[in-house]
Amino acid sequence: MLQVDNVCKKFRNTPALQGVSLQVEQGETVVLMGPSGCGKSTLIRCINRLAEPDSGDITFGGRSVLAMDSAELLDYRRRIGFVFQHFNLINRLSILENTALGLVMAGMERNAALDAARAALLKVGIGAEMWERAPAQLSGGQRQRVGIARALSGRPDLMLWDEPTASLDPILVQEVLEVMEGLAAESHAGMLVVTHEISFAMRAADRILLMDQGRIVEAGSPGQILQAPTSTIGLRYQKLWRVRYTELPLRTAAYAHKSITRPLSGGSMPSAQKMVEVQQ
Ligand code: ADP
Repeated sequence: MLQVDNVCKKFRNTPALQGVSLQVEQGETVVLMGPSGCGKSTLIRCINRLAEPDSGDITFGGRSVLAMDSAELLDYRRRIGFVFQHFNLINRLSILENTALGLVMAGMERNAALDAARAALLKVGIGAEMWERAPAQLSGGQRQRVGIARALSGRPDLMLWDEPTASLDPILVQEVLEVMEGLAAESHAGMLVVTHEISFAMRAADRILLMDQGRIVEAGSPGQILQAPTSTIGLRYQKLWRVRYTELPLRTAAYAHKSITRPLSGGSMPSAQKMVEVQQ
């Protein structure tokens, strides 16, 4: 469905993309990971034609995206749902209006757009009691779920996600990841997801692509990448994954060792009785 062929892009003398090729099929979830500055956002922006590649080609449904005129580009963008790191909601509009706005601007009749927006909001768990609120009245996780609903409301064929959880408190990340996982499992849209969330990649990706310095350096299933990586970046993700998810010792006594040397109060060493209390 989406095909990226040998795309290169430089900013002045900085090469951001150095011959990137990939494809995303309908219904497939492809997770793109890599260190900061390796070119992930630039790639997503080139796919959406918010940035122009210097060379290479991008095709969608067999048509060259780079050769599209403005009317074709508008139609192409209607078929793509874009979820940003920052939700970019308009605070003077309600949640419902924010979700429907893109559809109305794309020419959909207002009531039909509101119906589509309501369905999309329900899909991401934003109930009717929140629809008339302003974005500022919602938590960050809820706001990003509205951002997802906005991208979903046009029933896109392809969804592009650019670090959708990166600006959220860790505690709010999980609710957004759950929505993303649900969509990845059931959606017919192809998904290209830029994220640092290894847990999401492990559970939801059909394929993981690892990028480094403007190139795709490794591609494979989550099992292949995390169990038998072949690139330096792959080895680093494997280490991170092991430390985070497989080798984390669970502490049962809070700071027990520190109580031996740290005075509890008044600068004096704690009694044996107090140390036992702290350890418990
Ligand atoms: P990532 O999303 O992986 O963090 P980016 O795609 O944002 O990486 O950036 C890739 C490289 O391109 C970096 O070196 C970055 O500094 C550079 N870059 C990105 N956007 C611009 C821009 N608008 N102007 C100049 N340099 C840019």
